[in-house]
Amino acid sequence: MKIVLASQNKKKIVELRTLLSEFIPGIEILSLADVGITGDIVEDGDSFEANALIKARAAAASGYIGVGDDSGLCVEALGGAPGIYSARYAGEHGDDDANLDLVLEHMEGKTDRRAAFVCCIACVFPDGSEPIVCHGRVDGELLYARDGDGGFGYDPIFYYPPFGKSFGVTSAEQKNTVSHRARALAAFAEALRDRLQNH
Ligand code: IMP
Repeated sequence: MKIVLASQNKKKIVELRTLLSEFIPGIEILSLADVGITGDIVEDGDSFEANALIKARAAAASGYIGVGDDSGLCVEALGGAPGIYSARYAGEHGDDDANLDLVLEHMEGKTDRRAAFVCCIACVFPDGSEPIVCHGRVDGELLYARDGDGGFGYDPIFYYPPFGKSFGVTSAEQKNTVSHRARALAAFAEALRDRLQNH
């Protein structure tokens, strides 16, 4: 059983491989490069789900099961922004510092600090059967300034009440016990196992 993950991010590939192999022994996780798919995938969906499906479809073009994910930060007081634009909120894709600073700027004077990290994982089957779509989220509050410099993206300003600290000072292991990605991945692993067993 082979699965192609629509990502070049080695950490994500390892994470998916580790988790899925616990649930589905013998499963093989490949990257797009492994199946000879090169070039950028245009993520022009209007939701996390749409973008995850776009990536999953691109991976399924390989002839194997395709998996795509999309995640980001949704802030209540900003109407859900930065949302699907989380990676390029300040303009340039992947400029974590600038993105974080812009969120802080837009949150100036706002007392409703509620925010959530959300993740969607989509899985597309080459035989055209119904895709699997799973969601995960973790709720927290935005700080007024950075706390720590661990993690990535918006972690330093994301305060997680049950831990009593920000994700910027939380170890990757601890974050993985509650994160939006871990939750979506766990739901996905279970859904995929059920699908494969019932086929
Ligand atoms: P991706 O879809 O996983 O690549 O995430 C898109 C963007 O959302 C990232 O560039 C980050 O800005 C933000 N993001 C997603 N997950 C996290 C997280 O766990 N911590 C901090 N930022 C995140």
